[in-house]
Amino acid sequence: MSKSKELFSEAKKYIPGGVNSPARAFKAVDNDPLFIERAKGSFIYDADGKEYIDYVGSWGPMILGHNHPAVVEGLQQQLLKGSSFGAPTKLETTLAEMVVAGVSSVDKVRMVNSGTEATMSALRLARGYTGRTKIIKMEGCYHGHGDSLLVEAGSGITTLGIAGSAGVPAKLAEETIVVAYNDISALEEVFKEYSQEIAAVILEPVTGNMGVVTPNAGYLESLRNLTKEYGALLIFDEVMTGFRLAYGGAQELYNIEPDLTTFGKIIGGGLPVGAYGGKEKIMDYIAPEGPVYQAGTLSGNPLAMVAGINTLKLLKEEDTYDNLEEKGQLLEDGILKNIKKVDVHAVFSRLGSMFTLFFNSSEVTDYQSAKSSNTKAFSIYFNKMLEEGIYLPPSQFEANFISLSHGKDEIQTTIEANYKALLEVKKQ
Ligand code: PMP
Repeated sequence: MSKSKELFSEAKKYIPGGVNSPARAFKAVDNDPLFIERAKGSFIYDADGKEYIDYVGSWGPMILGHNHPAVVEGLQQQLLKGSSFGAPTKLETTLAEMVVAGVSSVDKVRMVNSGTEATMSALRLARGYTGRTKIIKMEGCYHGHGDSLLVEAGSGITTLGIAGSAGVPAKLAEETIVVAYNDISALEEVFKEYSQEIAAVILEPVTGNMGVVTPNAGYLESLRNLTKEYGALLIFDEVMTGFRLAYGGAQELYNIEPDLTTFGKIIGGGLPVGAYGGKEKIMDYIAPEGPVYQAGTLSGNPLAMVAGINTLKLLKEEDTYDNLEEKGQLLEDGILKNIKKVDVHAVFSRLGSMFTLFFNSSEVTDYQSAKSSNTKAFSIYFNKMLEEGIYLPPSQFEANFISLSHGKDEIQTTIEANYKALLEVKKQ
């Protein structure tokens, strides 16, 4: 038995399902998770000492690659000074200033400890600021596990949300209206029906959580116009896309200013951080300035701030996003060639350093089309890639991430493995 399997059966005795986050279980791919021992650059090493090229990147934060010397050094120095004070530090202002300078819609930013906290807090702020209660989210977008956001779509375009998890009160879920991503007319209808009740629209401007799906031309602009027209706040959840698609996130790429933005992942450089920010007059509604309460024992934790600061400093370098794009293009060219050669039903969806290979015969534009992908084919693909030493997110409905430390050799190795894995899929 592999060491990972041994560790997993031990973990299951003490931890529900053996994992501290369900996405880590390999359930959708009929396998058991690898237990990781260490990671360096674009490589990750399991408990059996096997090396993999990593495209999970801790689900997004590790844009520099694992264990980057600048981040490690900063952490070592900070550790000697202390790991938490529960009092303000200059580090918090430094990171806040960097976020404000980097993201034009953000005047002020509040640090929290996870993406979930960021979106939960942003919703509370939107509700407190507007005095309204309903929110609109898009089908297939994930914003963490806050009650209001764990709601899936029912059928029909203006369907009231149903609880997507046991334990979410139906009364609260009813306040969440779900519409299809990329569908502006659905959104217009909801706004017409509930006009003065909508506090906010929240979405991933480019989705990663149904796999990578990009906005149709004009979609984000229409969203911005509609929310303005009805006095609702527009919240971009850039937990995944922030500092990933561009330094200023998806909003820089598409040139749209949301009212509030949520961050996580990259801004913590691999340590637990989330943040939410926006225009000053909205952010000043938060306690202690304003009436919306939100707090945190470890918020603005100095170790996390140092990791974030050192990560953003490096990302600011001139060629960061061109470099990521170049690697993304290289991978895309190779995989598209393979798909053609092997002749499988697969669609490669990529924006910059985020990508998903959908086992689908047509373009994926929303949750329904994403869900029509062949998950059995994905499972075969995933397991063959793993065997070939490529570590991918264990689900069809996730984003893969390229880091600055992925070299051309690793990309080439990945393309070769992809060819073999597609052949396996074709055999079935
Ligand atoms: N929003 C988005 C867009 C995310 O991708 C995630 C996590 N994958 C979250 C929110 C929640 O973040 P966390 O897991 O840090 O709570």
